[in-house]
Amino acid sequence: MALSGLQIQKLLPKTNCKECGSNTCLAFAMKLAAKQASLSACPYASEEAKQILGAASEPPVKEVSLGNAVTGGETVLYRHEKTFVRQTLLAVNINDTAGDAEAALNNVKNYRLERVGEVLTVAAVAVTQTSADGKAVIALAAKALQITGLPLIIRAKDTGTVKAVAALAKGTKSVIAGVTIENADELKAAAQENGCALAVTAPDVDGITALTGKLKAEGFNDLLIDFNAKSLAEAFQFNAIARTAAIKHNVKAAGYPTLKFIDAIDGGGAVLAMTEILKYGGVCVLPSFDPAQLVALMTLRLNIYTDPQKPIQVEPKVYPIGEPNKKSPVFVTTNFSLTYFLVSGEIENSGISAWLVIPECEGMSVLTAWAAGKFSGSHIAKFIKESGFEASIDTREIVIPGYVSQISGELEEGLPGWKVLVGPQESADIEAYIKQVLVKGSA
Ligand code: SF4
Repeated sequence: MALSGLQIQKLLPKTNCKECGSNTCLAFAMKLAAKQASLSACPYASEEAKQILGAASEPPVKEVSLGNAVTGGETVLYRHEKTFVRQTLLAVNINDTAGDAEAALNNVKNYRLERVGEVLTVAAVAVTQTSADGKAVIALAAKALQITGLPLIIRAKDTGTVKAVAALAKGTKSVIAGVTIENADELKAAAQENGCALAVTAPDVDGITALTGKLKAEGFNDLLIDFNAKSLAEAFQFNAIARTAAIKHNVKAAGYPTLKFIDAIDGGGAVLAMTEILKYGGVCVLPSFDPAQLVALMTLRLNIYTDPQKPIQVEPKVYPIGEPNKKSPVFVTTNFSLTYFLVSGEIENSGISAWLVIPECEGMSVLTAWAAGKFSGSHIAKFIKESGFEASIDTREIVIPGYVSQISGELEEGLPGWKVLVGPQESADIEAYIKQVLVKGSA
């Protein structure tokens, strides 16, 4: 639970020695409460203070690694309170009896979805034992690691097979699923040996929290919760109750990301997967590789997990549209993602190749950036000069958005020898502008 400044001050030496850079212990405590300072700046902090403040600074939902990805770490119940930090990770299940496992693994490995400048991929492969003995799932796990390089979510029938797969996956930050009160000790040892996390399961909430509490007390804290809900409503309720308990009531035993296996995408499975994304799911395992499901779920996820406080932006640089050369036209707009994708799309639609200059505008749209002084003539000219772009092309004309025609004089002053053309106000008119002004003009 977060401590207030006054509560923190009581734990400090109260000598106001100023060595931490603050004038008083209270001022320093206020900074700690706002997470603008670290306790290590006070050389006189007691062990008790370190212990209490260390625990208080842990996120209420534990962060757990899955390969290079991380789940958990959330601090708020609602996105608008601050932001969600870890998007629901999507994994694909493959059964050890699947005849087309190799093709599915290659599909998982090659899957890439590009949205507003982000490349979205599958986070992990779940390998599930459905055959009687463990040989097939061990062989499948070896193939999955070799082909995809992704971490595994291990679901096998007996602890011997789990241990064999975990040993293969050593160092990949994989997850051992199906951990119950009966097999927890044995699987904890396998997880510790191979750097895996454990996904615990039990028939009810009390059983889950008893198991997470036991493992944490024993020093193992890389845990996920796999609540075996019997209905969509139960799954939704469990996720909401666990997250509320962790964030509002500081229930540590509930403060872990969830893992949910979707058994089939029809008959409610698709809705269950969407519910996981909408309501606090940590890792969601889809029953098979289906690009149509992935594109829908990843797009939904992007909407939920975009930081509402930060505009989505593209990297400031000069983008080639098509295959431009030294004489191709040059356009400029801001690095707000929506603006970038609309403008680049319209240039592409016109069929010409061009350069699109995107200076740093803190992700603002054209008029907002101009009003904030981030899209002035001198700002754009400076960006073009410093990027070295001017020296690499022969074109000396640049098209600016029609809404900021007033910057043309300043831009011409900043780029001697260049002519500034005022383009249309709306991106939808770019294609017509290119055909009527640029292509006709050069004909
Ligand atoms: Fe107080 Fe520690 Fe800062 Fe000194 S260094 S003012 S004791 S908080």
